Amino acid sequence: MQKAKIAGRTLAEWQAEQPLLQDVMATREVWWTNLAYASSVDGLPMKLGITDVEAADRRLRRFASYIAKVFPETQSTQGVIESPLQPVPRMQCELERLYHKKICGSLYAKYDSHLPIAGSIKARGGVYEVLKVAEELAMEHHLLKETDDYSVIDSEPFRRLYSGYSIAVGSTGNLGLSIGIISAKLGFKVTVHMSADAKEWKKSLLRAKGVCVVEHNADFSQAVAEGRAQAAKDARCHFIDDENSADLFLGYAVAALRLKQQLDEQQIVINEKRPLLVYLPCGVGGSPGGITFGLKLLFGDNVHCYFAEPTHAPAMLLGLMTGLHDEVSVQDFGVDNITAADGLAVGRPSGFVGKNVGSLICGVYTVEDDELYRMLALLAKTENVFLEPSALAGFTGPIRLPIAVEDAVHIAWATGGSMVPAEIMQSFYLQGTDLLQETP
Ligand SMILES: *Cc1c(COP(=O)(O)O)cnc(C)c1O
Repeated sequence: MQKAKIAGRTLAEWQAEQPLLQDVMATREVWWTNLAYASSVDGLPMKLGITDVEAADRRLRRFASYIAKVFPETQSTQGVIESPLQPVPRMQCELERLYHKKICGSLYAKYDSHLPIAGSIKARGGVYEVLKVAEELAMEHHLLKETDDYSVIDSEPFRRLYSGYSIAVGSTGNLGLSIGIISAKLGFKVTVHMSADAKEWKKSLLRAKGVCVVEHNADFSQAVAEGRAQAAKDARCHFIDDENSADLFLGYAVAALRLKQQLDEQQIVINEKRPLLVYLPCGVGGSPGGITFGLKLLFGDNVHCYFAEPTHAPAMLLGLMTGLHDEVSVQDFGVDNITAADGLAVGRPSGFVGKNVGSLICGVYTVEDDELYRMLALLAKTENVFLEPSALAGFTGPIRLPIAVEDAVHIAWATGGSMVPAEIMQSFYLQGTDLLQETP
């Protein structure tokens, strides 16, 4: 329910200060430009920097031999969990045709939808944080040194150690999948607190892997809060805090190092004349926040990141716009947080991200669910890649961009979808093709 007063001010007062609020509250698509945008990572409130991101990358590399052993689908990348960066020229062409607008430069997709282990962007942050916990525990118990071959972790002594500890997380679905799968593989007891919008197939898949799934009749923020409260009672339980975790954030930030390498390999030059524009679907803000931070560290003024949210769940947008961060929810402004983009169905943004790296976000835009389905069908038709609705939020970014660029490398971050069961994907696709036909 919409509140009479939000942070001590009436709705009329907020609207006078932020005229865009009217459209946000009416769940119309908006583009918000961050007036506090500061390209530099200097002077951010938090202390993290490039050395932390590089250390996270090295930790993931230490685990590569283990990952390759227990997730054979990662053997082709020697246990490095990474996704392809691909030009999508046919998609670009169809977008231009559909919206009667030219996209200056080239459009690429970063297919985190096809990340191994979890089939979504959560295979970055989620897997990283659990591996860090596993490494620290093994070292404390003198089972592991940094110089060891980590494939030894796939053995009884390690499983016995981890079975004495538990991991807990609150999730709309995908984070639960990622944390559940990697934790269960290591041998941890693991509990996933699922919000009401989490899909049935995600819960069944986790239960089949021995994960304890607790269903909450509430949205993401409450599932997280309840998970946090339960975990706090148990000293041997590590709670993965999607709203506040620096480790999740660093796991996501590593993507920037990998992306830079891919751009170099594909001889895609980024400079003042050819900036990198990145469109990131945003839920609580951890994954787009971490990636934005990493990219800003590497590309500085030559990269600009835009967050994309559903019109019914503009959590980060409201947090940044009002400056209230995690002290405001979309419900406070009468927005319902009901969207087909379940990975983005978040009513309250991460305070960690908003406060620490909010200034690095160039803008936030919102997308209607129907538009996500249209993009889903369009990408399937043009590139033969099938994503889940959340993962399409980035694709209209280059069309919606209000500034004129002469040339740019546009990257739509395709955040999930490869694990969606075929019959569900087919229904997404049909919904999208229907909507496309209705479009004049
Ligand atoms: C979680 C998720 C996001 C957004 O990540 P946040 O860290 O919640 O902002 C985007 N797309 C998909 C498919 C997701 O699962």
